[in-house]
Amino acid sequence: MATAELLREHDVKPTIVRLKIYDYLITQKNHPTADTVYKSLLGEMPTLSKTSVYNTMDLFAEKNLIQAITIEENETRFDADTSDHGHFKCINCGEVFDFNVDLSEMMHSLPKDFSIKERHVYFKGTCPACS
Ligand SMILES: [Zn+2]
Ligand SMILES: [Zn+2]
Repeated sequence: MATAELLREHDVKPTIVRLKIYDYLITQKNHPTADTVYKSLLGEMPTLSKTSVYNTMDLFAEKNLIQAITIEENETRFDADTSDHGHFKCINCGEVFDFNVDLSEMMHSLPKDFSIKERHVYFKGTCPACS
């Protein structure tokens, strides 16, 4: 599906900036912070404002186009892959890795009448390159 259509489907008006940001997220897969996205796109979009990047990331997350990952309180990262998967953060190099998780069993063990809005699995440790 074209990016513009995908954005429209999530009730987000596809502007040039939004399309650029979404394409960056979908191709880089590096779980960037809004600041990383801003710095990476500034080269090709010199008029880009930091505020619009931050607002766009928040909007995307709100519309479930991407997921916000807050492993550390002071650092929000974003992921265009909204399927269930776990995140492993290396405490040495700071990189965030994906891994597969099956949350269905855990969700079933939740008592009745609880409704889940968000689900996250985070691990911290050292990655192979840092071990
Ligand atoms: Zn590492
Ligand atoms: Zn991820």
